[in-house]
Amino acid sequence: MSESPVKEITRRGFISKVSQGLVAANVAGAFLKSASAQEPLAVPDVPGKKLGWAVVGLGELAIYEILPAFANCEKSKIVALVSGHPDKANKLAARYGVNPKNIYNYQNYDSIRDNSEVDVIYIVLPNGMHAEYTIRGFQAGKNVLTEKPMANTPTECQQMIDAGRKAGKKLMVAYRCQYDPFTREAIRIVRSGELGPTQVIVADAGWCATDPNQWRLKKDLAGGGSMMDIGIYALNAARYFSGEEPTEVNAMMFNQPGDPRFKEVEETMNFQMRFPSGVLANCTSSYGYYHQSHYRVIGTKGHLEMDPGTWYRGNHMRRQHDVGDDEITAEIEIPEQNHFALEMDHLSDCVMQNKEPLTPGEEGLRDIKLIMAIYEAAKIGKTVKV
Ligand code: NAD
Repeated sequence: MSESPVKEITRRGFISKVSQGLVAANVAGAFLKSASAQEPLAVPDVPGKKLGWAVVGLGELAIYEILPAFANCEKSKIVALVSGHPDKANKLAARYGVNPKNIYNYQNYDSIRDNSEVDVIYIVLPNGMHAEYTIRGFQAGKNVLTEKPMANTPTECQQMIDAGRKAGKKLMVAYRCQYDPFTREAIRIVRSGELGPTQVIVADAGWCATDPNQWRLKKDLAGGGSMMDIGIYALNAARYFSGEEPTEVNAMMFNQPGDPRFKEVEETMNFQMRFPSGVLANCTSSYGYYHQSHYRVIGTKGHLEMDPGTWYRGNHMRRQHDVGDDEITAEIEIPEQNHFALEMDHLSDCVMQNKEPLTPGEEGLRDIKLIMAIYEAAKIGKTVKV
């Protein structure tokens, strides 16, 4: 068990801020250890060596987060774009210095196999398209990072894993929080036992899906509703905080009656999970309210709270524990890093060093199998063993 970075603590009613330098040093240490495998995650510097990346799908996430994040990468550079909109692709290519000959559309995407500048393909399309474009990427001989959720069904996830194995290439699912030093420090605190054995994990994820025509409300493109889109953060967090796999799930769903947005997918899902050590998780996802991203991990001696916990930037974390009759609270501040740059460099590093990513296809498949069990529990109104 490593020493906690929380040094400055105050008594009831006061919250201290932890020294950034001290935390930074400890977080670097935490990041070097993979939560699941305790494998080193550090990206060794090889001067001048960056792998070439192609981004497939130029929507909100790609334009506002992923393309700008290449500026923070040490091992990854953007060399190609795949889009159905040539005007948008040309503008973005000019902005990011992508050679116009490396702009593809969804029809000629497969010819990317002839482009030796491209090592890794990042799939940033609607969920229902991840499987097809991942498998075509592998058939083109490239490594693939696919956005979460991995795909709409476990069968598709397995097909993606099989295609990667057949091609002898890496498959990683973009669980960006698992690459964020802030989240990794939270995992370290919880798993260190400093708060006592974990009893309960509470996780809420929500945002308001106002546009009734968006793909996230179409079953074939989204796979499901808020559960697939953001409930997966709560589910994944319950797994990485506990370090265990659930054995059973319960669930209830709610759609506002008559709301035209929720004809095909659910608005709100509340689900519970039981883990082998006795940890219980109570999680909620919703498209019906504004910006919730809240985790609370309760141990026998204290608790850790993240609110917000999953934003691209501006997250907050505090821990609290009892000492005799006193309650000690500390706010934990950690220098922010770009989640997308960290995850992309992690995959580049895995490709260069022939290592398994921290969040491989099997991690994505596990979540999709659990999501199917959660939908089943909500449908039949009974506990489902997994
Ligand atoms: P978006 O709607 O903004 O972009 C989707 C892109 O896909 C657009 O460029 C669109 O033109 C293209 N597209 C191609 N065929 C399409 C079709 N048939 N219907 C709709 N769009 C089509 O979505 P987004 O928010 O960028 O999300 C993309 C993926 O990224 C999703 O899988 C989502 O879950 C994931 N995501 C992840 C995070 C994260 O923090 N890791 C955050 C947001 C989104």
